[in-house]
Amino acid sequence: MLRPYEDKVKELLDRMTTEEKLGQLQQLTWTGDTGPGGGQTAHTEAAARAGLLGSVLNLHGARHTNALQRMAVEESRLGIPLLFGLDVVHGFWTTFPIPLAQAASFDPAVARRDAEVSARETRSNGVRWTFSPMMDVTHEPRWGRIAESCGEDPYLNGVFAVAKVLGYQGAPDGTDLASEDRVAACAKHFVAYGGAEGGRDYNTVDVSEQRLRNLYLPPFKAALDAGVATVMAAFNTVGGVPAHGNAHTLTTILKDEWGFEGFVVSDYTGVEELIPHGFAEDGADAARLALNAGVDMEMVSTNVTEHGASLLADGRITTDRLDDAVARVLRLKFALGLFDNPYADESAAVTEPTPEARAAARETAARSMVLLKNDDSVLPLDRDAREIAVVGPLADCTDLHGTWAGPGAYRFLSVSVLDAVRAAAPGALVTHAGEDLAEAVAAAGAADVTVVVVGEPPALSGEAAVRSEIDLPAGQRELIEAVAATGRPFAVVLLNGRPLTIGGWLDRAPAVLEAWHPGIEAGNAVADVLFGSVNPGGKLPVTFPRAVGQIPVYYNRENTGRPYDPARHEEKYVSKYLDLADGPQFPFGHGLSYTTFATGEPELSRAGIPADALERGEMVEVAVTVTNTGDRAGDEVVQLYVHDVAASIAQPVRRLRGFERVTLDPGGSRTVRFRLGAEDLGFWTNDPAGTFTVEPGRIDVYAGTSSTTEARRTLTVT
Ligand code: BGC
Repeated sequence: MLRPYEDKVKELLDRMTTEEKLGQLQQLTWTGDTGPGGGQTAHTEAAARAGLLGSVLNLHGARHTNALQRMAVEESRLGIPLLFGLDVVHGFWTTFPIPLAQAASFDPAVARRDAEVSARETRSNGVRWTFSPMMDVTHEPRWGRIAESCGEDPYLNGVFAVAKVLGYQGAPDGTDLASEDRVAACAKHFVAYGGAEGGRDYNTVDVSEQRLRNLYLPPFKAALDAGVATVMAAFNTVGGVPAHGNAHTLTTILKDEWGFEGFVVSDYTGVEELIPHGFAEDGADAARLALNAGVDMEMVSTNVTEHGASLLADGRITTDRLDDAVARVLRLKFALGLFDNPYADESAAVTEPTPEARAAARETAARSMVLLKNDDSVLPLDRDAREIAVVGPLADCTDLHGTWAGPGAYRFLSVSVLDAVRAAAPGALVTHAGEDLAEAVAAAGAADVTVVVVGEPPALSGEAAVRSEIDLPAGQRELIEAVAATGRPFAVVLLNGRPLTIGGWLDRAPAVLEAWHPGIEAGNAVADVLFGSVNPGGKLPVTFPRAVGQIPVYYNRENTGRPYDPARHEEKYVSKYLDLADGPQFPFGHGLSYTTFATGEPELSRAGIPADALERGEMVEVAVTVTNTGDRAGDEVVQLYVHDVAASIAQPVRRLRGFERVTLDPGGSRTVRFRLGAEDLGFWTNDPAGTFTVEPGRIDVYAGTSSTTEARRTLTVT
């Protein structure tokens, strides 16, 4: 994709000294030593002037990036522009809901729009590279970074990764990267970071080749096919080899097998961390191992620039590898138009969320919400209610941006649920009680209906924000139970960055809305759903466990040799806990609506298909009809799953291979059509050289409105 610049890259490489080449592989942070937005560190400035720096992270604002850029372009010998990078994960000024929430929309268009809005805001502020999308499939709700991922399914993560990459970068061939409203994307973290043992951040990951290829790699491959410009290495080991020194994943798979032409950036000090991993002897060894494994740019630590020349001199790295890494970086700089125009137009910088961007964030947040439970139709609320109580520690919270929010989180408050309910029901008396239990109970007792707003403050999820218990923070369950004891109707709104264990109080709460961390328009989006101007249609992108002791619990598990089968054995001898009901609290794909839907059986276009026909690209069509059987318009997500009944490697009991979110009027009906091909029906074996196979046999094809659907047809691959 980035090939058209080959002559220019070569010409430049020929003029570069070894030190200048190594400099292009260095990314330094900007620590803001003269106050926020105020200046650059002396070290970073000196490196830029000397032409010994390729990239800078954490500096933004057109005036600030231009000042540093001028040093590189006007004062260094070759004038190679810097590439500024920043974590714009779900918004720059305009915070969209966290990625996990966006995945719950089952609508990739919302992720694409987030990326488009973010790209415009980011680029106009001098930054042309975002460290997003994150696509770490995970089965670990304790892991704080689940908030940043699209949950437990590789297909869903892949679809959203593609949407984000296209939103950030435009055309998959890279031709849009030079335009003023695009930024380069970064697929992270390569790879299997979400598999951290115990959910503890940075922890060991030991996966078989088949799990690596079937579970963790597919979103990255999808992002690559969408043209993602860069990839970031992961902090964990993969099968004993740290990802930053892992030639199998970085070079054999990513660069050789997949033909990736962009560059690999390390994670923050990830090269240096090869030493404490017990993999590298010292800094020189770390640089050697990382470069030779396939890392191209070092973030923050400086081993490559410090030791590169001596490694080259004694042959521990080759000129070819060095030139390859530098060429990868330069190619992207050309593609981004940095050589033609390295500066941001200071007069054109977007300085705050536009009304359109806010509207997009609000709509996205509302589409991301999942109605977990709604007994007695407590929801939607009546706008003409006489008195509504809004209680709970997060009711009046104005920081609902969530983890890895961009610079906007420091400048703009989120709309609180309390303010939004007041605005949405101007005729009602809206009362409020925050932390005080007695006040909350009094308010709930007097009101027609109460909204209990609880969950996790944003600092409880994100990097290194791991929890050993994932229930509501202290006091919140007591609040819910006290409100329940008033006997008055109420709904719980959850604002959180991960699945929570809510079984302890769930049966006391008639209605529960999972709203995640919804971003800048949080309260407005919650109110849109509470009052029914938006009918909730989101679905869980992750399983909600009953208890922490049950983790990992995920839908796409393998069967054991003892699924419960009365013909074979007693129920006791199945894989479950003595002290816990079997199965999750809420399954992947679950989500209710204010209306009801009926889905028909899946209809296959053919009952059988030869494996070689699939390999030639033939597909089987699956049609599913969904009908709105209720009395208001609403959205349903039709989901398609497959299960290979007997294969040379035990297969997941269900694998998501298609979904579509449809909007239907009351009585309205739609036939959704999916296509299943080799990619959907086959799997990767344990062959380290990469073997994908479609085996003859029976495939169960399931369709419905959650991962527990039993509506099934069988397809035979001959
Ligand atoms: C995170 C990355 C992030 C980087 C730069 C690291 O700690 O793991 O996801 O892009 O910091 O901020």
